[in-house]
Amino acid sequence: MAGRCLCASAVFWVKLSSVREKLGALWVGPSDLTRPIMLERRLLLGRWVGIGVFAIALGLHPLGANTMVAAYGVLALAFIYSLTLLRLIKRRHSGVLVGFVPTLVDGLLCALMLPLVGGFDSPYYAVLYAVVVSAGMRLGFARGLLLAAAIAAVDLLWRIGGGSGVDAAFTVRSGVLFMTVLLTSYLHDEALKSEAALAERLHHSEVLNSALEHQALYDLLTDLPNRTMLHLRIEEAITARRSEHTSVALLVIDLDRFKEVNDTFGHQYGDLLLQQIGPRFSDALEPGDTVARLGGDEFAVLLPAADAVRAEQVARKLLRTIDRSFSIADNWVDVGGSIGIALSPEHGADSDVLLRRADVAMYVAKQSGSGFAIYLPEQDQHSPDRLALIGELRRAIQNDELTLVYQPKVDLETRQCVGVEALVRWQHPQRGVIPPDRFIPLAEQTGLIKNVSRWVLNAALRQCREWRADGIEIPIAVNLSMRDLHDSDLPEIVVGLLKRWGVPPSQLMVEITENGLMADPARALHSIAALRLMGIRIAIDDFGTGYSSLAYLKRLPVDELKIDRSFVRELASDEHDLAIVRAAISLGHDLGLRIVAEGIEDAETWDRLRRLGCDVAQGYFIGRPMPASALVASLDRSQGVLAA
Ligand code: C2E
Ligand code: CA
Ligand code: CA
Repeated sequence: MAGRCLCASAVFWVKLSSVREKLGALWVGPSDLTRPIMLERRLLLGRWVGIGVFAIALGLHPLGANTMVAAYGVLALAFIYSLTLLRLIKRRHSGVLVGFVPTLVDGLLCALMLPLVGGFDSPYYAVLYAVVVSAGMRLGFARGLLLAAAIAAVDLLWRIGGGSGVDAAFTVRSGVLFMTVLLTSYLHDEALKSEAALAERLHHSEVLNSALEHQALYDLLTDLPNRTMLHLRIEEAITARRSEHTSVALLVIDLDRFKEVNDTFGHQYGDLLLQQIGPRFSDALEPGDTVARLGGDEFAVLLPAADAVRAEQVARKLLRTIDRSFSIADNWVDVGGSIGIALSPEHGADSDVLLRRADVAMYVAKQSGSGFAIYLPEQDQHSPDRLALIGELRRAIQNDELTLVYQPKVDLETRQCVGVEALVRWQHPQRGVIPPDRFIPLAEQTGLIKNVSRWVLNAALRQCREWRADGIEIPIAVNLSMRDLHDSDLPEIVVGLLKRWGVPPSQLMVEITENGLMADPARALHSIAALRLMGIRIAIDDFGTGYSSLAYLKRLPVDELKIDRSFVRELASDEHDLAIVRAAISLGHDLGLRIVAEGIEDAETWDRLRRLGCDVAQGYFIGRPMPASALVASLDRSQGVLAA
């Protein structure tokens, strides 16, 4: 029995909740309605209830037959009117639905009905509250008040016409009518206010959102797309290319000598220069191309449909626009640029790879001073063999697989050893000895060179200390790369190592290749000046193979010029080389520099150089690079005089 009861009540609850759900859906209505139509729809639901109530009430009301017919007639009119409204709502027709018309029709229907059913004193008066409530909700205070006042006035006239005046019933019902207007229009106003506040907040957050979005995707200083945005555009271009079968070109541009502008004029002016780059580049490009700033003085240009030929044309154009002087703070300044080019699909199928490869090409262009370069896998440390070698080099540094050999430098007049150059060797456990030419460029491209240089500096200074302990005082020269000079921690690292091994700075010399120096002389100058201030001496290595400007040479605080061995090798037979070496010696001497000739392999070259006034000699003729112990032995043998 109890079970059946429980079962029946469960069925009842299920039914009740489904009815509740249906009623809820009826109240909420379709989701695509505008606010005014939704309001009309709900008022219509109220109207249906009103008609139902009236129909029952009239049935219970003692009325004469004719009056009854007339009253039901009015109700029928209300029914037809509601059906019309329903159709209009279904058609989302808001024109006549909103505003006065429904209120007016409601009022008219009431005005027709009320006299039939007993006038304002009858309980049917209550329907006027409904009309006033809907007017207040729809039309607000002023118009709702007008309606209430009109009803009260008609009521009063009716009463006066009937011979009675203002009484308690009239006062209460009219008063409540006004109260109703006040309350509903208050709700109406509050709803409008919160809607407006919400709309404003929405607007603000939209504005804020778009500002944040802009900030996330555009560079603050230049307003150019930033790295994130560039990635998106590259991906977009690569996807589009797939269907159009064209290639995408990405150019990475790094300014040369930009640091000099910053140092000379200050950062604000450096910023002014960076701001001029975007417009200049845009002039050289076509509408669909993108100029982006990657950071610092590095920019990128995306050509969504370009082959190698067009990419090179654009690179040349861009270089020309950078080569034109920039006007900054009433001065004209010159910067240059190096451009790396990578193409998709040839060099990469996604934005990360493409950017990295354009960057590799840019470094190649910078190092060779060629202006621009297209990516070549041979120059890339990311090719599998190179990747493996990089991993091994990292381990080699930790496992002390590197060693140093030393090559003497001797005075051409006195034949006295005036120093040694430390040269690194990699004793690979499987591959045997790997020459520096194979792994140094790789390390330079990946940044691992900083670790190599640190290792070399440490090992060279440790050797220097050992020699000093044995009473041998030979200055040691160490090769550093462009990347080391661009590392602001370098001077501090060198100071730390000098202290660690108790070696005076005058015993250390740093060799930097001419190309490395000239890639960005202003940046290099910074580190060189700091090292020199500490008392360390500086040499320009491989002189003659780079593109030094005489202006820079004069400004660089260097001590030594090492003429590249390619000029020394055929000095005895090649008139051109002879002229170059002679010019280099005289230029270097004019600038107060010591001149070293590298790669001397025979006595004839030695003699020539001595006669040309060259100061120091280095080469197989004097001594091959050798382990520290062998060098000391040969020094002992010759009492410091090494040349034959
Ligand atoms: P470099 O600085 O010009 O070093 C001189 C190179 O010339 C050495 O080659 C040396 O063995 C070679 N050499 C010396 N005398 C003669 C000669 O009479 N004839 C010929 N044909 N060659 C001679 P190595 O040791 O193979 O070094 C090659 C390059 O690798 C160096 O050129 C230097 O640029 C770089 N390197 C070597 N060690 C280091 C290092 O510790 N750090 C950095 N950053 N680079 C290094
Ligand atoms: Ca060197
Ligand atoms: Ca050299």
